[in-house]
Amino acid sequence: MIRNCIRVPKDRGEEVRRELLERNMLDSSAQISAEDEYLYIPLADSTQEENTKVFTDICENITFMLYEFKKQTGQLKLENLLDTVPHFEIIGDIALIEEDTPEPGVVADAIIKVKKNVRTVLAPLGPVEGEFRTRRFRTIAGEDKTSTIHKEYGCRYHIDLEKAYFTPRLATERSRILAQIKDGDTVADMFAGVGPYSIIIAKKSPLIKVIAIDKNPSAVQFLKKNIELNATYNVKAIEGDAIHEAKRLEASADHVIMNLPHNAHKFLDAAMQICARNAIIHYYDINPQNDLFDSSLKLIEEAATKAGKICQLLDKRVVRSYAPYQFNVCIEVEII
Ligand code: SAM
Repeated sequence: MIRNCIRVPKDRGEEVRRELLERNMLDSSAQISAEDEYLYIPLADSTQEENTKVFTDICENITFMLYEFKKQTGQLKLENLLDTVPHFEIIGDIALIEEDTPEPGVVADAIIKVKKNVRTVLAPLGPVEGEFRTRRFRTIAGEDKTSTIHKEYGCRYHIDLEKAYFTPRLATERSRILAQIKDGDTVADMFAGVGPYSIIIAKKSPLIKVIAIDKNPSAVQFLKKNIELNATYNVKAIEGDAIHEAKRLEASADHVIMNLPHNAHKFLDAAMQICARNAIIHYYDINPQNDLFDSSLKLIEEAATKAGKICQLLDKRVVRSYAPYQFNVCIEVEII
């Protein structure tokens, strides 16, 4: 394939390639070619010789010319466009890059080129924070939006990333919990968010009942939409504080999901109240490497004793790493 191109000395090639990518002037359907001491970088059809004059600022010795390229074979990969593959995650048609990603514009353009389903690239403006565990974002490339529909294990979730918490990183963990739930069980999801635990569980069988509580009104609005979207009418969505709601759910649940890391311990008395006989609590926390489970387990045991119950450890596991030396853990106990 014959294309307009820029011929550039090899030692300046990477700089020029990045600049072209950022300006949407690179033709990624053709393979960059190397000959002697030069790189030949293919240009998009819309790129004219006068557009390339700007590159003389980077390197004087560039030539605009025609060149015969090989077609880019196979699927275009990020490593074809970037020196290092950045960390990012995809939620629906939104890609989330990390806050400190170098050259976020270049990375975002490359993601949009390679990942055909991505329409927006966002970067967080700060950490997940506050009672509702939300965060703010800035749009780096594509459509300026924070809402999308995300698919996970056959369920669909309407989400607005600024209005309610959601992470796709717990998908495997959710399916692990799902495997433990049986027909006839009642599940209380004390901090349900937009419903990623509740809905997948309810979809397993109409004979499973799910009570999904969240204090964030926006999260509950999305939860209700998601119940409709997935036709999981066996989920009862409740907007409220899990502590208050627990009083009305006395001894009702066979499984209690407590996905509020950092603060779940404050809700242990409420969880004990909700537990039916032999119920299982799935308790999440963020703990340091040198105390992954012991302190959390002690708090669970103390709450059980206070409620006049016995707590038997079933499982304890690291779900994912959270920060340096900090881990998201899950502890599962039977309450007898
Ligand atoms: N389980 C969901 C998920 O996996 O996406 C959401 C988890 S998020 C870490 C914790 C959720 O707890 C947030 O949606 C927040 O609004 C909710 N929350 C915080 N305090 C609460 C309370 N007192 N009662 C009920 N929900 C609460």
